[in-house]
Amino acid sequence: MPTLKDREVGIFFWAEPDALATIRTVKSCGVVSGQLGVDGSVVLNDETAAAWKAALAAEDFHLCTVFAAYEGESYADIPTVERTVGFIPAATRDARELRTRQVIDFAAALGVKSFGCHVGCIPHDTAHPDYAPVLGLVRRIADYAASFGMTFCLETGQEPAAQLLEFFQVAARPNLRINFDPANMILYGSGEPIAAFHLLAKHVVSVHGKDGDWPSSDQPGSLGTERLLGEGSVNIPKFVAALREEGYVGPICVESGVHGEEQRWQVLSNAVALLNSLR
Ligand code: MG
Repeated sequence: MPTLKDREVGIFFWAEPDALATIRTVKSCGVVSGQLGVDGSVVLNDETAAAWKAALAAEDFHLCTVFAAYEGESYADIPTVERTVGFIPAATRDARELRTRQVIDFAAALGVKSFGCHVGCIPHDTAHPDYAPVLGLVRRIADYAASFGMTFCLETGQEPAAQLLEFFQVAARPNLRINFDPANMILYGSGEPIAAFHLLAKHVVSVHGKDGDWPSSDQPGSLGTERLLGEGSVNIPKFVAALREEGYVGPICVESGVHGEEQRWQVLSNAVALLNSLR
């Protein structure tokens, strides 16, 4: 495993068919660690796990988290997120639980110690019919992750920080943690990210380096707009200072969807350089 610094800067990237080529490209952006996203189309079997395990070892690359995304999710706007993302849609809940367990098995095979996903927009009202089943599912997934010595990270943004904290406390699982994404707080209009970080800090084990602008008030239900890191409304220097203030020493992984395919790696390299200058 490579030597990691406090607030080590890494990259969030998606599992592509060629594990070794993917890790080499990610490393070319100047990082030795990151988080791997596994979308619903990735075939998970012993061969896939063996290929990723070998590639990580060959490149001495550290994965701090494996994230799951699911078939049928759409981030088009807030009502669509509410309808399609994570554990909220009842019709896909059982299938996604099964898939989540498979992604955790895959992460365990790679020796990764943290699993994360968007559980979806948790209802404000605890009497809502989706609340109890989602809570139960979160607890089962946390317990399954714990059986491999793994944390289960909830991603921030799809609800205000205070509401996430309340859900987190009600779920009450010792290995439940938070992956803090400052841009999501803005993109979903869920609250000022630095104040949110201070509220959640002691539960945060990983952070996304992502930036964005608030949703436009004349388009109800729209998401905000993701921006290049440092060019949005997060105030990245102030956010990194807040990480230090809270004594946060875990990873900061650049997550960026703002690029054409050709600029993708250059955009990620620039973001890595910016965070390394601030960390
Ligand atoms: Mg994120």
